[in-house]
Amino acid sequence: MIGQATPVAVQVRSAHGVHKLEAFVEQNGARYSVWQLPQPSSSLDGTWNFTAGVKTTPQLKDGKAKLVIDATSNGLFGKTAHWEHDVNVVTQPPSVSADSDQHYLYLGMADLATLNLSGAFTEAGIRVGDQTFRAWPMPGGKPGYFSLFAFAWNMPPDTAPAAYASNGTGNDVTAPLVFQFPKKEQPKYTVHELQISDAFLNKVVNELDPNGSGDPVARFVKINNEMRKANNQTLFDLRLKTADHFLWSQPFQRQPHAQSEATFADLRKYIYKGKQIDQQTHLGYDLAVTQHVGVEAANDGRVVYAAPLGIYGNCIVVDHGYGLMTLYGHLSQIQVHEGDMVKRGQVMGISGQTGMAGGDHIHFGMLLDGIQIDPKEWWDPHWIKDHIAKRVDLPGFQG
Ligand SMILES: [Zn+2]
Repeated sequence: MIGQATPVAVQVRSAHGVHKLEAFVEQNGARYSVWQLPQPSSSLDGTWNFTAGVKTTPQLKDGKAKLVIDATSNGLFGKTAHWEHDVNVVTQPPSVSADSDQHYLYLGMADLATLNLSGAFTEAGIRVGDQTFRAWPMPGGKPGYFSLFAFAWNMPPDTAPAAYASNGTGNDVTAPLVFQFPKKEQPKYTVHELQISDAFLNKVVNELDPNGSGDPVARFVKINNEMRKANNQTLFDLRLKTADHFLWSQPFQRQPHAQSEATFADLRKYIYKGKQIDQQTHLGYDLAVTQHVGVEAANDGRVVYAAPLGIYGNCIVVDHGYGLMTLYGHLSQIQVHEGDMVKRGQVMGISGQTGMAGGDHIHFGMLLDGIQIDPKEWWDPHWIKDHIAKRVDLPGFQG
């Protein structure tokens, strides 16, 4: 899209440098020069930035147009290159408004807002601090949009979420959400000291850094930081594999008969021989049953990851639609494949202690548009009714 003053970057490679470089916008049979290289350049591989849009070419009207770039080489034969691409001229910013519901924000928790969007936009949703949660067309062909969003466990409490829409032309618009952040009722995260034995240290280091050498404590700390970060980036990127509809209709299920050995956003201090060597936030639940128990899908969905994933060990991620996913880590066996549809309660693998696990348990996590959230609300049918099913069509939900 081209709007008021849309940034364009053009890269030109030429063995002899660039003699002439010019950009045009063509619309309705007319051609407008929007930028040209002020003087020949000897650069063999250069990038130039300019803006195109109504601000400098007021003749442009809303609708289809073409962006054209012509380049001529400095060489003896003055070789030319031509590039063109269809664009849409959008002179008006999109508009966005959000529902007037009171949204209660709790650290690590999710909520749903409905939005009205109009005009042309390339991106819209709810923005919370530096995180964005996509807007989706209302299910069931109803008018409007909605966005599932999270207030992350580590989001500064004074962050105000807002609805936003952008058309990629510098015409971003936002609308405030009505919200409250009940200070007294925020989750209290606990601090745990994890005693690291030599046996555990060696198990983790040998499994996750088999070709490494050097001090095992340093290798462990590196795994716990760098590998954790890379693994979490892999999980974040899975958001792009989500379905654009609900794949589920019942409350999420918690692994049956399991005891919670750790809960969401516990702070873990890693103690080795009486000394703290590291600390990390644990973004899930550790659910223990017995050894080698069948790991059950928390809800209907589609497998989007089924492979080893560093500290998470053998790991399954199930997509439930609209950016919502569940994660199952430390398995001894994976029995599903990427792309498989699974049913709530279906056994997808066998628990174990692969990855950074000192005993047989399931690390159960949940992600919303790539952000790790507390699963507990999703286990609660009343919460789902009040926050999801009352605001959008959740076909088949009974509550
Ligand atoms: Zn865990």
